[in-house]
Amino acid sequence: MVQHYDAIIIGGGPGGTTAARILAEGGRKTALVEDTHLGGTCLNCGCIPTKFWLAATAPGGQLRGHARFGTLAGEVSVNFAALQQRKERFVKGSSQTLGKTLASLGVTVFSGRGLPAVSGFGPCPEEAEQIEVRVEGASPAVLRAPVVILATGSHSASFPGLAPDGEAVLDSTMLLGLDAVPKSLLVVGGGAIGLEFSDFFACMGTAVTIVEGMPQLAPTEDADIAEELRKILQKSGLTCITGEKVAGLITRDGKAELTFENGQTLVAEKALLAVGRKANTAGFGVSPSGEKTATGLCLDRRGGIVTDECLHAAPGVYAVGDVNGRTLLAHAADHQGAYVARRILGREEGPYRSGPVPSCVFGQTELMRAGKTAREVLAGGGACAVSKAPLMANPIAQAHASSAGFVKAVWENGRLAGMAAVGHGVSHLVTAAQLLVLGGFAPETLEAFMFAHPTLDEALRAALTAPQAGMAADS
Ligand code: FAD
Repeated sequence: MVQHYDAIIIGGGPGGTTAARILAEGGRKTALVEDTHLGGTCLNCGCIPTKFWLAATAPGGQLRGHARFGTLAGEVSVNFAALQQRKERFVKGSSQTLGKTLASLGVTVFSGRGLPAVSGFGPCPEEAEQIEVRVEGASPAVLRAPVVILATGSHSASFPGLAPDGEAVLDSTMLLGLDAVPKSLLVVGGGAIGLEFSDFFACMGTAVTIVEGMPQLAPTEDADIAEELRKILQKSGLTCITGEKVAGLITRDGKAELTFENGQTLVAEKALLAVGRKANTAGFGVSPSGEKTATGLCLDRRGGIVTDECLHAAPGVYAVGDVNGRTLLAHAADHQGAYVARRILGREEGPYRSGPVPSCVFGQTELMRAGKTAREVLAGGGACAVSKAPLMANPIAQAHASSAGFVKAVWENGRLAGMAAVGHGVSHLVTAAQLLVLGGFAPETLEAFMFAHPTLDEALRAALTAPQAGMAADS
């Protein structure tokens, strides 16, 4: 029997659950279909479990910093088995709590795979205003609604010759399930995911080698930030190889064997493949070649569902979060899910505006950015200047014995367009930086702002008031 709803959401990660909550609170009869665990990648195998790991290694990092000055001595050790248990318990409990919260709001949660009824998410032949979704799983169902939100997220990308095999070559989800700490680890991919796992395992005593095909680690950041990060990581004992393309990664004799295009090889106990993420669109009736299907769904070059300025993927169909490939971050998924839900409720008419999207890489050495990089300002043709302040000059960074790194302000045509930082604890600066960038302030306005003393936030002010250096397009 067909069940009718006001809205159907496929995918129970941050994008889908936020939309479901707002729609249900707005009085809409809402169905949410999730095929694994509520909370999505973020809660089950992404943001949250990785931060449980990093939080456990944080005290050891602080101890090592202080030990260099002789101010602290002793040892802290991580009980990996207990850490794994704690992480699993928290994740499971939070997923269950999320289910209860959605149920209490009146959202009907279906356990199973949500797929279009026929070949795509087009109008239903018998009820032209409705889109039909079938649920494949323990209790199959057929659902209809005038609006469907696709929030199915993404999975680890792999390529021919570069695919996890579950033995020594692992993706991030497999790595999170390890029951022992490897002695050596190759990390293929120097983006956020690769960097966070590298940080954790290096703290656990693993010999970590990061391999990045682009000329720098953190390829989306400015080169000066990436270079400082590389220096700090190398000083902490990690090996960083950049600008070298990997031709293959396989398990041989129980170990991970990496071969570069230049023929050189590296061997380690395990390897993490962290070379990007791919949208979950299997079974949606979208052509992999990027052509528009009869229902209007279309994939971009990287496999994300193409959306218009209001996040519509097709008539009556929205796509939010990782699946549309705009920004692969949990807070972006949440923000988009909230916008679409408000739009369906008639509370939002204009196009979707993300504003500057804050981003962080967490660990002993962190990165944060709000707004544009200098590279982006220059690419957009704006007049670009940067001003910087070293963390060395900040008393709180010094007190914590972790003062490597700097904060940077990026100016576009005389207005603040971006802020970035590299160093210990700099993720804590991201919200203040975001608010400053949102203001698009001129230097004279910023001079009048008061910052609490003594805080790491004062490093933001130091960067904002430091002398500006103009940048040329080829710098
Ligand atoms: P997801 O969270 O991926 O949820 C999608 C859900 O849809 C999944 O539960 C999936 O099972 C379900 N699904 C898929 N297909 C179907 C179907 N056909 N039917 C039913 N259900 C389906 N982001 C941050 O902002 N900060 C971080 O620190 C951070 N750390 C990360 C660390 C790692 C290791 C990884 C892998 C990611 C990290 N991310 C981080 C990214 C973040 O997890 C994602 O951007 C976010 O989860 C995307 O949310 P989403 O709602 O779009 O999709």
